[in-house]
Amino acid sequence: MVDDRTLLTNGRVFASTGDPGERSFDGDVLVEGNRIVSVVPGRLDVDPASARIVDLEGATVLPGLCDAHTHISWPLDFVFDHDEVAAAPSHRHILDVAAVARTFVESGYTLIIGAGVLQIEDDTLMKEFVDRGLHPGPRIVPSGPMITEPGALGSDGHLMEVVADAREMREAVARQCDRGARAIKLFISGDGIVPEFPSEDTYMNDAMLAAAVGTAASYGAIITVHARSAESVAMAARTGVQLIHHACFIDDSALAALEARRDDVWVCPGMHYLYAVVHGHAEPWGMTPDRLERSGYAHELACMADGLRKLKATGVRILSGGDFGHQWTHHGTYAAELQRYVELLDMSAAEAIHTATRNAGPLVGLAVGQVAEGYLADLLVVDGDPAADVGALLDGDRRRAVMKDGKFVYVNPLHYP
Ligand SMILES: [Zn+2]
Repeated sequence: MVDDRTLLTNGRVFASTGDPGERSFDGDVLVEGNRIVSVVPGRLDVDPASARIVDLEGATVLPGLCDAHTHISWPLDFVFDHDEVAAAPSHRHILDVAAVARTFVESGYTLIIGAGVLQIEDDTLMKEFVDRGLHPGPRIVPSGPMITEPGALGSDGHLMEVVADAREMREAVARQCDRGARAIKLFISGDGIVPEFPSEDTYMNDAMLAAAVGTAASYGAIITVHARSAESVAMAARTGVQLIHHACFIDDSALAALEARRDDVWVCPGMHYLYAVVHGHAEPWGMTPDRLERSGYAHELACMADGLRKLKATGVRILSGGDFGHQWTHHGTYAAELQRYVELLDMSAAEAIHTATRNAGPLVGLAVGQVAEGYLADLLVVDGDPAADVGALLDGDRRRAVMKDGKFVYVNPLHYP
């Protein structure tokens, strides 16, 4: 049936094979239902009566992108006012969240992994809203409120849950999973953005993390951690945490612990956020040179670049993503993360794209992130060749269309009026 088959023809294909030297090739892609059923070099012979034919006019089709560290709770006009957003009337706030979900998918992101919410049901409600087809948005792996420990960063307000030991951790993780969260976020290090809680400080212990991982696993959920200090990275790696955010400091022991789990641990740095703060982009919003100095972020960025280069050499998978939604890291500019990998980690554009595509599927247990037969048809169509210039992914005018689960969820009226 025509409705159910779409031929993307006359385009270029970036399949996301994992080869660092990968380039796109002239090819066609056939989608049936929600799956990719054929990818061929050159033209595919399909009876026009049996499929909808979409002429890509030389544009590139690549896998839909993943951002592995998202806060859809942060509205489009967010200005670091966490408490105010958390206290906003829920019925108004959820409209802001919906706008962010739409922005993600319209930016080419068909998969996001929650990294903590400001109102308890933000991720889970939006996932339901999107999955029911009521609103455009990406696939969402929902998170709940972040979890910290007494005396640690975040423990003095009402934004995070506070747990003191392994027993309380089990209860908190089970509670969040019962409410539908599937990516449970723990705070296990400080963050120099609040200078009283330096990034090198480490929170929690092995017993608490192991309890979290075990409880989450019984729900099919993953544990994600805010881990900036080397000690926190090593602890997360040896206790089975699946997704380690930031990893700003990676010493030899952290590197060895990560390498030992090469096949079931992922690192999501959030490098563009750090870069933007260090380069003064946050100054109009109160990040004065003095506060920047006290944050230690410049040193942290240099260490992060160093650590990630070593990590890349081990083959541990890096996932792109990180804290977009500040005024200095606007929603919709998510692919800036990939530009930083090219500039600061010497990744090829293809390698950078791999961090947002093929690397993510296995973490979330979905056949996504490759343009290959049998994979889910989550696809992005852009003018230009992102494997030569990753900046093509940031340009809204060049973004032609986004397909999720075999259906177009965004079509740029400039190209397909
Ligand atoms: Zn975050």
